[in-house]
Amino acid sequence: MLKQRPFLIETLTAIGLIAAPFVLPHLGFAPNTVNRILVWGLFGLGFDILFGFTGLLSFGQSAFYGTGGFVAAYLLTRAGFGNVLGALIIGMIAAAATGYLIGLIALRRTGIYFAMITVAIAEVFFFVEFNPLSDFTGGENGLPGVPTPSFDLGFTSIHFTNGWSLYQFIALCYFIGVIIALRIVRSPVGAILSAIRDNPLRATAVGHNIHGYKLTAFVIAAAYAGFAGGLLGVLQAFMPPDAFTFDTSGQLVMQTAIGGRGTLFGPLVGATVWLFLQDFLQSALGLGAAWKLVLGVVFVLLVCFLRGGIIGGIADLYRLASGKRRRTEAETEAEDAGATQQPAPAPMQAKEVEHPAYSGPILKATGLTKRYGGLVANSDIDFSVNQGELRGIIGPNGAGKSTFFKMLTCEIAPTSGQIVFEGRDITGLKVTEVCQLGLTKSYQVNQLFTGLTVRQNLTIAALAELRGKFRLDLFRKLSSVKGLTEQVEHTLALVNLARRADTPVSELAYGEKRRLEIGLALATSPRLLLLDEPLAGMSPRERVETVKLLKSIARGRTMIIIDHDMDSLFELVERVTVLQEGRVLVSGTPEEIKTNTAVQEAYLGGVHGEIAA
Ligand code: ADP
Repeated sequence: MLKQRPFLIETLTAIGLIAAPFVLPHLGFAPNTVNRILVWGLFGLGFDILFGFTGLLSFGQSAFYGTGGFVAAYLLTRAGFGNVLGALIIGMIAAAATGYLIGLIALRRTGIYFAMITVAIAEVFFFVEFNPLSDFTGGENGLPGVPTPSFDLGFTSIHFTNGWSLYQFIALCYFIGVIIALRIVRSPVGAILSAIRDNPLRATAVGHNIHGYKLTAFVIAAAYAGFAGGLLGVLQAFMPPDAFTFDTSGQLVMQTAIGGRGTLFGPLVGATVWLFLQDFLQSALGLGAAWKLVLGVVFVLLVCFLRGGIIGGIADLYRLASGKRRRTEAETEAEDAGATQQPAPAPMQAKEVEHPAYSGPILKATGLTKRYGGLVANSDIDFSVNQGELRGIIGPNGAGKSTFFKMLTCEIAPTSGQIVFEGRDITGLKVTEVCQLGLTKSYQVNQLFTGLTVRQNLTIAALAELRGKFRLDLFRKLSSVKGLTEQVEHTLALVNLARRADTPVSELAYGEKRRLEIGLALATSPRLLLLDEPLAGMSPRERVETVKLLKSIARGRTMIIIDHDMDSLFELVERVTVLQEGRVLVSGTPEEIKTNTAVQEAYLGGVHGEIAA
């Protein structure tokens, strides 16, 4: 994520844009090249929000670039519309509306299928532009005669004609584009987009409607593309049909990868390298069409050796130079070992958990069954947990514990049966809705936002509770979300990670990652918290620490905990339910369970051999 120093990036951008006409000619850049770079840069601002920030690789941006461009050009050349800026804005709106419709279809799939759908859609647009709509778009001739903007101020009028004069208009558009994009990526929506890129499953599970946010990113990218497409027509006094070609989409992706994704300025830097090399290799070195060969080699080298692109490489160099070397996991472990010698800071008391007026079991499952083909993972489970209770669930491997949790949190739908949470039937709801209602879980295998820091991880989870599952506060500062800082700080203290708040997840020790996993669930302020093997994979020392932590978290909460470490679990919970072969074998106090012969038999026959006494 971009550092949030107020207005630093905006100021540097303004300085750069003002200085460009004085500096770049000395480096061999013609004004027209600079203008084309800015148009690509503006196009790429939206694309980077989609690709770099949200992780959605689209090869179909030419569809929106062309749509915006041709709508604007048509209005200005054929429809007698005289206002260039107005036409650009209408083109942008048309592209955004098209993006909304296409997004509804394309975002039904993820990964490679999403990318393939976008390729197909771009091809369809290219065909439609050339054939059925050629009366409007000029077909292969494009639309010539696109005017440049002029503004009548009453006492005088300003004309942006060409070269450095037109640069002023395009640079202003780019600058406004940067300001808007920065606002978006610094908003709560921007933070959630990064979370979706890192771990869509967890972003959904903590209570965000990720489809809505992905669609938002798609529409934003389409809007930027549409405006940039319009500017291309203005810049060339001609709207070229090749704006719609696959090459345009591919060039945008490559420029973004060269410059650095997730930086907003990557596409601008990439376009600079691309167009400079094009001019330099073609004209100065006389390579002709072979220039693309050199570009291809440059691209491969950059992608192999600078995974973050040019800006990512510069950022790494800066970090090295300023001595902010990343600490290795071993160092962290060593430091932790030292820290545990000292008295550990007392974890904060659990925040008062609001209980609704509803009285009765907080959770009641009846006849819960899950079949996978012929295999019955859970069979006819009746299960009830009271308000404030701490319940343990044990059972040999394959007994159906995780499946049971997945059904309770509505991650998977039961084959039959009913789940009632706080008196409300939640069977068939989505995991996001159930989390919003106050029921969530921590995962057996960590599901963290790996590209973010500890604080940013908890922020994502807290935002779901504070803002609901979907809100379009695109221009709001993250820091202005009421109660966010308090909730994040509170959770940091609760899971004992305050010291590591600004550490990237990738640099955390395993035990810390497990605590963050629990923290993600806690930050949504659940009234019922399910913990799926919270002690899994921990060293004995980490287990002792985590059990202490869980005890402090448990105060005032209702929790259900699955774990194989029975000594620890029996120390924590008041009642235990034993599952075997998908059924409830028995429920009782830890003492009753320890001495139950049926349980001992289940374990003697199971993987664990024997139950700990
Ligand atoms: P536990 O958590 O107690 O180890 P699980 O709930 O993971 O048990 O699994 C219970 C049974 O259901 C196992 O036999 C497992 O192989 C099966 N199972 C779990 N998930 C699936 C799935 N997605 N498809 C098919 N079988 C599954």
